Amino acid sequence: MASELEPEVQAIDRGLLECSAEEIAGKWLQATDLTREVYQHLAHYVPQIYCRGPNPFPQKEDMLAQHVLLGPMEWYLCGEDPTFGFPKLEQANKPSHLCGRVFKVGEPTYSCRDCAVDPTCVLCMECFLGSIHRDHRYRMTTSGGGGFCDCGDIEAWKEGPYCQKHDLNTSENEEEEDPLVHLSEDVIARTYNIFAIMFRYAVEILTWEKENELPAELELEEQSDTYYCMLFNDEVHTYEQVIYTLQKAVNCTQKEAIGFATTVDRDGRRSVRYGDFQYCEQAKSVIVRNTSRQTKPLKVQVMHSSIVAHQNFGLKLLSWLGNVIGYSDGLRRILCQVGLQEGPDGESSSLVDRLMLSDSKLWKGARSMYHQLFMSSLLMDLKYKKLFAIRFAKNYQQLQKDFMEDDHERAVSVTALSVQFFTAPTLARMLITEENLMTTIIKTFMDHLRHRDSQGRFQFERYTALQAFKFRRVQSLILDLKYVLISKPTEWSDELREKFLEGFDAFLELLKCMQGMDPITRQVGQHIEMEPEWEAAFTLQMKLTHVISMMQDWCALDEKVLIEAYKKCLAVLMQCHGGFTDGEQPITLNICGHSVETIRYCVSQEKVSIHLPVSRLLAGLHVLLSKSEVAYKFPELLPLSELSPPMLIEHPLRCLVLCAQVHAGMWRRNGFSLVNQIYYYHNVKCRREMFDKDIIMLQTGVSMMDPNHFLMIMLSRFELYQIFSTPDYGKRFSSEITHKDVVQQNNTLIEEMLYLIIMLVGERFSPGVGQVDATDEIKREIIHQLSIKPMAHSELVKSLPEDENKETGMEGVIEAVAHFKKPGLTGRGMYELKPECAKEFNLYFYHFSRAEQSKAEEAQRKLKRQNREDTALPPPVLPPFCPLFASLVNILQSDVLLCIMRTILQWAVEHNGYAWSESMLQRVLHLIGMALQEEKQHLENAMEEHVVTFTFTQKISKPGEAPNNSPSILAMLETLQNAPYLEVHKDMIRWILKTFNAIKKIRESSSTSPVAETEGTIMEESSRDKDKAERKRKAEIARLRREKIMAQMSEMQRHFIDENKELFQQTLELDASSSAVLNSPVVSDKTLIALGPAKTQISEQRQFVTCILCQEEQEVKVEDSAMVLAAFVQRSTVLSKNRNKFIQDPEKYDPLFMHPDLSCGTHTGSCGHVMHAHCWQRYFDSVQAKEQRRQQRLRLHTSYDVENGEFLCPLCECLSNTVIPLLLPPRNIFNRLNFSDQPNLSQWIRTVSQQIKALQALRKAGSASDTASSKNVEKVNELQLPEGFRPDFQPKNPYSESIKEMLTTFGTATYKVGLKVHPNEEDPRVPIMCWGSCAYTIQSIERILSDEDKPLFGPLPCRLDDCLRSLTRFAAAHWTVVSLSVVQGHFGRLFASLVPNDSHEDLPSILDIDMFHLLVSLVLAFPTLQCQDFSGISLGTGDLHIFHLVTMAHIVQILLTSCTEENGMDQENPTGEEELAVLALYKTVHQYTGSALRGTPSGWHLWRTVKAGVMPFLKCSALFFHYLNGVPSPPDFQASGTNNFEHLCNYLSLPNNLICLFQENSEIMNSLIESWCRNNEVRRYLEGERDAISYPRESNKLIDLPEDYSSLINQASNFSCPKSGGDKSRAPTLCLVCGALLCSQSYCCQTELEGEDVGACTAHTYSCGSGAGIFLRVRECQVLFLAGKTKGCFYSPPYLDDYGETDQGLRRGNPLRLCRERFRKIQKLWHQHSVTEEIGHAQEANQTLVGIDWQHL
Ligand SMILES: [Zn+2]
Ligand SMILES: [Zn+2]
Ligand SMILES: [Zn+2]
Ligand SMILES: [Zn+2]
Ligand SMILES: [Zn+2]
Ligand SMILES: [Zn+2]
Ligand SMILES: [Zn+2]
Repeated sequence: MASELEPEVQAIDRGLLECSAEEIAGKWLQATDLTREVYQHLAHYVPQIYCRGPNPFPQKEDMLAQHVLLGPMEWYLCGEDPTFGFPKLEQANKPSHLCGRVFKVGEPTYSCRDCAVDPTCVLCMECFLGSIHRDHRYRMTTSGGGGFCDCGDIEAWKEGPYCQKHDLNTSENEEEEDPLVHLSEDVIARTYNIFAIMFRYAVEILTWEKENELPAELELEEQSDTYYCMLFNDEVHTYEQVIYTLQKAVNCTQKEAIGFATTVDRDGRRSVRYGDFQYCEQAKSVIVRNTSRQTKPLKVQVMHSSIVAHQNFGLKLLSWLGNVIGYSDGLRRILCQVGLQEGPDGESSSLVDRLMLSDSKLWKGARSMYHQLFMSSLLMDLKYKKLFAIRFAKNYQQLQKDFMEDDHERAVSVTALSVQFFTAPTLARMLITEENLMTTIIKTFMDHLRHRDSQGRFQFERYTALQAFKFRRVQSLILDLKYVLISKPTEWSDELREKFLEGFDAFLELLKCMQGMDPITRQVGQHIEMEPEWEAAFTLQMKLTHVISMMQDWCALDEKVLIEAYKKCLAVLMQCHGGFTDGEQPITLNICGHSVETIRYCVSQEKVSIHLPVSRLLAGLHVLLSKSEVAYKFPELLPLSELSPPMLIEHPLRCLVLCAQVHAGMWRRNGFSLVNQIYYYHNVKCRREMFDKDIIMLQTGVSMMDPNHFLMIMLSRFELYQIFSTPDYGKRFSSEITHKDVVQQNNTLIEEMLYLIIMLVGERFSPGVGQVDATDEIKREIIHQLSIKPMAHSELVKSLPEDENKETGMEGVIEAVAHFKKPGLTGRGMYELKPECAKEFNLYFYHFSRAEQSKAEEAQRKLKRQNREDTALPPPVLPPFCPLFASLVNILQSDVLLCIMRTILQWAVEHNGYAWSESMLQRVLHLIGMALQEEKQHLENAMEEHVVTFTFTQKISKPGEAPNNSPSILAMLETLQNAPYLEVHKDMIRWILKTFNAIKKIRESSSTSPVAETEGTIMEESSRDKDKAERKRKAEIARLRREKIMAQMSEMQRHFIDENKELFQQTLELDASSSAVLNSPVVSDKTLIALGPAKTQISEQRQFVTCILCQEEQEVKVEDSAMVLAAFVQRSTVLSKNRNKFIQDPEKYDPLFMHPDLSCGTHTGSCGHVMHAHCWQRYFDSVQAKEQRRQQRLRLHTSYDVENGEFLCPLCECLSNTVIPLLLPPRNIFNRLNFSDQPNLSQWIRTVSQQIKALQALRKAGSASDTASSKNVEKVNELQLPEGFRPDFQPKNPYSESIKEMLTTFGTATYKVGLKVHPNEEDPRVPIMCWGSCAYTIQSIERILSDEDKPLFGPLPCRLDDCLRSLTRFAAAHWTVVSLSVVQGHFGRLFASLVPNDSHEDLPSILDIDMFHLLVSLVLAFPTLQCQDFSGISLGTGDLHIFHLVTMAHIVQILLTSCTEENGMDQENPTGEEELAVLALYKTVHQYTGSALRGTPSGWHLWRTVKAGVMPFLKCSALFFHYLNGVPSPPDFQASGTNNFEHLCNYLSLPNNLICLFQENSEIMNSLIESWCRNNEVRRYLEGERDAISYPRESNKLIDLPEDYSSLINQASNFSCPKSGGDKSRAPTLCLVCGALLCSQSYCCQTELEGEDVGACTAHTYSCGSGAGIFLRVRECQVLFLAGKTKGCFYSPPYLDDYGETDQGLRRGNPLRLCRERFRKIQKLWHQHSVTEEIGHAQEANQTLVGIDWQHL
């Protein structure tokens, strides 16, 4: 069908392209009815351009639309060619000073914590960097999209509103200037015409709801039968559901379905089928049927294609309008005018109104398009922003209602624009006074919370999921209210007062509905059946917390308003609790001759609620009054006379008693919901407007009462009245009641009650209660947090209440109370309390949780012990109360409290007969201490002759009255001082008695200061003890350190101790002994030589190792059973110079020659732990069996993949996938001692060449022998075998069966992992992979040592040393388990790459061979030849000649590739021997390359280049021969800084002047050099046709990261998904290895890998890191490690804030800076191939990591 349509479509396109925009515009200019003319044009052309087939063609549509539809409008508007017209407009424009940049998703935004009026004021990165705020305290976040830069908005910033860029355009009275003056009358008129028509058209068509019919003006005569089945998004159905349904309904592939679903999710709708009506209708019904089972069905519409076409054009038009107004502020103003002009239907009929009001009916794409247009037009024009704000406020209620019905997230709702008006102070105030906005918002909110109980309170009890959903949406109204209140008025007009108070009334109505909501009754007998709903009420409370605080802040600003609000609040409280007696019986209480009337009410029996927002608001206002000037000067003017103190305290007291009873375990049967409520009541998020205010309310009430009366009421509410009012009740009580629970309960209640009294008198740190300011309050919070333990910045922030600007005020005071300690390589920076602040510690600080209190107590006592002080924690000296609260101190000396204290002390004295507790006593002691401190303060501050009425000391000296006749409190304290059972409190009692005496002295001596005297003596005393103390302290520290080390050690060994106690010690011994053996070289005086005939002979030491599994010790021997090391083999690209290269077809891949780019290496690592082979086998089998059972049962992943042979080392849990056998140096076993004359290099090459030739002939003959045997056998015999060569000789394998088996096991594992193929021990490539892994691992370690500037044979970590030794020896012994001829064949080819041989062609040129790999392979393959050679050539000779040959080849390689054309200065007279030699060699090479080698560098330069280039090779060779032959390294190598060239040459048996090698063997070398240089590839390279690696290769590093994290965010926000056409990526992720940015964790970028869908990161690791990857998730600021498809972990990022903390998830938003040490640590993990191991450890430590779908990242 498509092909038939094609010509037709093309014809249409041709026709369209023939249209002339100029002509059409001309016609429009003449038209009498322009609207009709334009509509006709659109009606005719739009359906021809848009929606002509099943799929949109955006580029083509855009092109045609521009040509046919938009072009004419632009011509019309400009009155000339728009390519000239628009630039003219732009030039005439005076652009606004607002930045207004609309944020993309993920773009970084900045807010200044010092200058932003509120946290919603943000800057774009460009403006921020050009502003003064970059040097202030700022916060950085990533935008969720929407919103714009506030640069230039003078209301948004207290200071520096303009950045450099936007400052340029400010002129003084800009606001008055009408932007239209820059436009000509004509342009204005035409713009107005065309904007009016087009804007109306767009609005009309986008809000059009009919599916089959166009507006009359757009209807065409003939209508085709072409429809779309349009699918809309909702928030109910998941991606998977939609994809699944679509595949069924429209018969598409999964890929197409994913495409549809992605577009629907992004744009809000997508046509999924195109065709006639029937065809589309059918798809619709399938979709509806399939998605309607559990939820409401997906929204689908069958729409006529012409409607869709017009709507698409409508969207295009909106974005066009947005672009056009960008040319000129005048055009923008015209558009605003057009938009807000009232339509024919009066109020709310402007185009803007119409769009807003249909917002919830529009699809996502349409919404965001017009929101963006509003932002770039209405919100950028200050005059119209105001008018728009009014329209918004007028429609507010309706918009919110629509939003409530809608299911889209708020970000795509027009209601989200509220932040743009409400946070602008003048707009907000205007809306409050003119549109009564506060009241509107609150009323709208109330309207949506309809469920009330009989008393009109909110009810959330039977609250459904739908209600919960709506409740969540309703909360955005609270946010709006917060916006309105966030900037406080600087001056009040009468209107503002009036409207604010009106709003306050509405707010009180709201609080009234909350006062007493969710009441609870204590459950007795049975446990509660169903946990009651509590979260909704608390959510409401929590969300309102800031609003309540802000209401108070507003009131505080104006005395009139404050007093009015106070009255209103009080009136509402009276309404709520006017008849608070509620029919409860009045009773009279009597203690100590005091009596009070109250009601009978028991918290444990009646209803009680934790929600008391009205009382708490009143408490807040009361404190404000107390702070105000009136309270000091004319307290009588305050409306205090109406207060009834008993009523004020009643409900808060009930609430606190409830908490006490819950704590005492009396409410256990009420379940967890109550426990949670109590928790939140005290939690830092809520306490400011809950618990704190209840305390204040009690303080308020009590300050107006007789303290004795209050205490009696309190005793009664705590249900403790009986105990304290009846003498001897206590005794009777404890003896009669045997029920232990009840005793316990009462004790707890008494403790809680005493605690409450301590709080009422002691909590004076709210400004208004005590004479303090806000900084004192915050200081005190911090001091108490840090008294528990040192804390990181973020921890501290979390424990402090935040204000509406998310500020805690901490920065201002922290320096005064704490020291900052910087973090190390791990961990965080910490704040520690300054020692001098410890005296302000209050054990009964009211914000401590119980756990915190006991931790703090312990920490503070410990500190005091360390300082050799007594351990008493006396109450701190407190600031004085404000006048309104001053009478509170009298509680301390009230008769009832003295009676309570006396009673408890009495119990303690007669400690056996009573039920009392130490905590009770401790609290009484604290109270006494407080009273003494108070009295002392009073005395010290008392004016002369002023009578101090606080006489606590006198009162406690008096004995109790009849009938008790108990001793005085003082006397009892003296008794208790010596009580053996009160050891802990002795110091406190002593402190009390001392203070008592001090006060007595003050009272006695009229005005001298005896206090100072006593303090003086104490000081003297302490200085005398100082030395002793210091010594003791040091001893203590040492002891602690020992303990810590022991603890760490036992933790480390925990796993193993569990298994076997003995083992623990033995393992330690093993570690110690083995490292001792390894690090003590057999020292000899002469030079040590690692290889060749002159190799230093060493007597091999016997090696004993202990199996970590069975604990038996064994000697490593050739014929004994094998000992193995746990090992981990992995592919690696760490050294790769070409990340695009990877093994395409592993079955055919030939690994014999490693390319110098070192791509596709195989690395072997080991933790160095030794096992018997059979013990390991048994262990592995059991792991395997266990794992299989577990997988069947739980279907869980583990951190290791058993099916792939992975296991964890049984000792250290290090990830492993095979084992390496431990061997003795293999060369010693095969070396035959026949030291006849050894051949020189050319002789040797000749001999070896002959031997190879013979073998080749034999093989040829052998393969032919299958057909005609006898004949060939003869031929073989005819062959001239070199002298002493016996190819039929088969050497005997010296190794035990067990060792042989392990040789095969490790070889096969290396082959399997390295090539990613199925294991096949017969494959000829197995030995090659083993040699390769040996070479690659040595190279990677050499790199690490060089990068870190470490000596070559310095103290390597034990595990590395063990690993390299066994790996090298293994690789050297591996040939014994492989067919000789296979290895001989490899040797032949390897050898031929340097010494040409006719039968080996297409070998790589020397440019394409890594010489170290070649060396290792040749040396390790050589024994297969040598073992059949009885001519007397030793292995050592072979090694030496191979080494020399390869070294020379490498030097030629370096000369060819690494000589730059740089001309040395002393080119003319090369002086040194080396320089002359190398120059000669260079000339030779030059000659053989046919003079293609460019330039004639100096000898000095050449020699330097060669030396530098060959160095890594020599170092690797030294390591290799060291481990192969066991010759100890010369001591010179062991110290750093001595990677000395001469030493290296000596050790390797090389001449110091390397070039001598060539001279000594010039006979053969010249021909070899010639053959190397004549190679075709070499020629191509020299002619510049190809590239080659040059030497020395540079180390690979992780990419450079920017210093400032936000530039990374910015980079990532500009990154769009490569697969979904310019869409922003949701999880942009940076590969730290190669710098690629990927679109991670998203459907769009999933690809198939080995038959499975994987995310972009996993796919990337396969090419970039051959399976392992290191990424940075930019939005989360998190490092991601991946290995394979199933493994991964997160790692802490290398970015820290100023407080030395990372910010994973970017939640705090502090500026982040690169920490180089931490980044280097990550790089080191990568270099050491430890990423996989790190993942293993992380997954073992945190099982949840195992469950993550890493492959989809
Ligand atoms: Zn900006
Ligand atoms: Zn700016
Ligand atoms: Zn600032
Ligand atoms: Zn064992
Ligand atoms: Zn281990
Ligand atoms: Zn990469
Ligand atoms: Zn993508």
